Amino acid sequence: MANSQTLNWTVSANPAPKSKSERDAILATPGFGVYFTDHMVGIDWSKSDGWHNARVEPYGPLSLDPATAVLHYAQEIFEGMKAYRHADNSIWTFRPQANAARMQRSAVRLALPELPEADFIESLRRLISADADWVPSAPETSLYLRPFMFARESFLGVRASEDVAYYVIGSPAGAYFKSGVAPVSIWLSTKYARAGKGGTGAAKTGGNYASSLVAQAEAYENGCQQVVFLDSSEGKYLEELGGMNIVLVYSDGHIVTPDSDSILQGVTRDSILQLAEDRGHKVERRHITIDEWRDGVASGDIVEMFACGTAAVVTPIAQLKAADFTIGSADAKAGALTMELREQLTDIQYGRTEDKHGWLTRLDA
Ligand SMILES: *Cc1c(COP(=O)(O)O)cnc(C)c1O
Repeated sequence: MANSQTLNWTVSANPAPKSKSERDAILATPGFGVYFTDHMVGIDWSKSDGWHNARVEPYGPLSLDPATAVLHYAQEIFEGMKAYRHADNSIWTFRPQANAARMQRSAVRLALPELPEADFIESLRRLISADADWVPSAPETSLYLRPFMFARESFLGVRASEDVAYYVIGSPAGAYFKSGVAPVSIWLSTKYARAGKGGTGAAKTGGNYASSLVAQAEAYENGCQQVVFLDSSEGKYLEELGGMNIVLVYSDGHIVTPDSDSILQGVTRDSILQLAEDRGHKVERRHITIDEWRDGVASGDIVEMFACGTAAVVTPIAQLKAADFTIGSADAKAGALTMELREQLTDIQYGRTEDKHGWLTRLDA
């Protein structure tokens, strides 16, 4: 796949952008995923013309035919990343090449076209060039970037769409933990699986989330904030949460994370594990049974556990609740290594420490 950027861009400015005072009010308490910037980026793809019509346009509703394929067969993928404002006001994102590559892998799995890396990164730059003022500057805030792609052909037959739309929208995001990082309780789903062998678990596609919602509701009913899934074949091996990867820390300092071809390969997890390796921790990517987790916490062999993903970065896990047992306890404190890795990663993202791995890409220049 060619990686040089080939698209010609057009820009149509929003004739009625939010005023500075409206925007400032939103940026003061942005929450997550509620407010959107003045513009969005779109790129069209068709079987006959490939990628074309790259544009920045006013943010607004899409008009879709009721027969649009994605509404019926869920041929859709997305990405999630953040734009960070540094102290000198420059705007950066984190490892966009990894998100571009993952979106290409998701596209292959969902029979969608692969957007070249250079065009993917240019699409982020274009949104930032229109909406730089929407990147907040308060500590731990960011502009969440949501690239997504879907089957736009109006056709009820079941085959890959020959008309595809790619968009990027931006949504200001507040600090995920408003009053300090708080460990969460997670619910072990045994009734539902998130993904199966040969399925779409490794792709970032809406269907995986649709199938996790009823399990997430079960978690809430059981007093937990998140749900964790096991493998669907044996119901024995740890996979991941609905939208975050999972990591366990052992008393001798080694770190274990599930390896499976039905989990989503998180950029946050990969980065955290690299930082842990840099500090001399041994990292194992392998199968972990739920029994190993339970026995390890009981014996004191497993001393920290956390979940990770772009939105919350690192979320300490206080306890895992299952129908017939509990691992850990609700009032467990966040682990020391968990918090150090979280701080080290956010320090890199916000430009507060040296970016030794070259993970940052500047978006506003
Ligand atoms: C996006 C996502 C993650 C986290 O990936 P990051 O690249 O770290 O944000 C983990 N699991 C699932 C199911 C996801 O969709």
